[in-house]
Amino acid sequence: MKNFYDFTIEALKKYLVEAGFKSFNADQIYKWIYEQKEFDYDKMTNISNNLIEFLKNNIEINDLEIHTVKESSDGTIKYLLKLSDGSLIETVLMTYDYGKSVCVTSQVGCNMGCSFCASGLLRKKRNLEIHELVRQVTTIENNLNIRVSHVVVMGTGEPFDNYDNVIDFIKVINYKHGLQIGARHITVSTCGIVPRIYDYANETIKSNLAISLHAPNDKIRTRIMKINKSYPINEVIKACKDYFDKTKRRITFEYILLNGVNDEIRHANELSDLIRGINAYVNLIPYNPINEFSYKKTDGVKANKFYQQLIKRGINCTLRREQGSDIDAACGQLRYKNESL
Ligand code: SAH
Repeated sequence: MKNFYDFTIEALKKYLVEAGFKSFNADQIYKWIYEQKEFDYDKMTNISNNLIEFLKNNIEINDLEIHTVKESSDGTIKYLLKLSDGSLIETVLMTYDYGKSVCVTSQVGCNMGCSFCASGLLRKKRNLEIHELVRQVTTIENNLNIRVSHVVVMGTGEPFDNYDNVIDFIKVINYKHGLQIGARHITVSTCGIVPRIYDYANETIKSNLAISLHAPNDKIRTRIMKINKSYPINEVIKACKDYFDKTKRRITFEYILLNGVNDEIRHANELSDLIRGINAYVNLIPYNPINEFSYKKTDGVKANKFYQQLIKRGINCTLRREQGSDIDAACGQLRYKNESL
């Protein structure tokens, strides 16, 4: 049995045509399922009995199994979802004044080994399939009967280490008869896998790029993120310039403030020099403490000084508010606590 949510529109057309049906049937089915939320083939009134039989026998439609749901006092909701092989993944729903945003997990575990991130404590087991990416969104939409307006691929895992499936996922959620989430409302966050940044710039759907920079120079970055040994900072910045030239889209740089590591005024200066000339936006993230690590969070006064220094130097910047930290759903805290580490 195939899973419906595994099909991009192109793949579904091809599959149906090969089975002797028409390519326009793919759009009809997409509309029923994504737009009408009709999951019963028998109720798809404009579809022939032949095709209904074929669909029943070959393509299943179902959401992921919800294992646990936790709601934070600020309204952030964390879902622990169970995959068919028993793996548990976390997906987070955040509510903003502009809409509802889902933070999607891209892999079971992660191999990037960033020294401050809890996700890396669970080694990568495997990549998520397209349907497992899409169903994180549909499961939440259907569970709460809401429409998700924004998607960030910032959960557990490195999306550019699961590149092809993440791109097909974006195609599905962006499609006009799919989940209809605009490219501007989709963001993929990477720790900086340079070749895939170049690939991403060439994709037809111009969704957003966020880079987990977290340091203004190689010395600090290599210390806290081992990926920097393979792809040093200047190569990341060069790839970002290429992305901007091709897409004209502003890039977000994420920067966790770690007490005594990367949070001095001189680091703000170095950071502003590094990204000068790029249409960039710096998202300063308060560090969410993880028991297993000794990093400390930068205090509010110092964080604000860092922020002010960037502003003074003409850098677009925000100091991000924390969401969901009381339920371990804040950045870097996504993990299944009971799983042995
Ligand atoms: N692998 C991707 C996406 C997942 S991480 C990436 O690296 O971008 C999503 C964001 O949370 C990244 O910017 C990551 O560096 C940040 N993050 C990880 N651990 C954190 C922590 N303990 N506190 C705050 N942010 C953290």
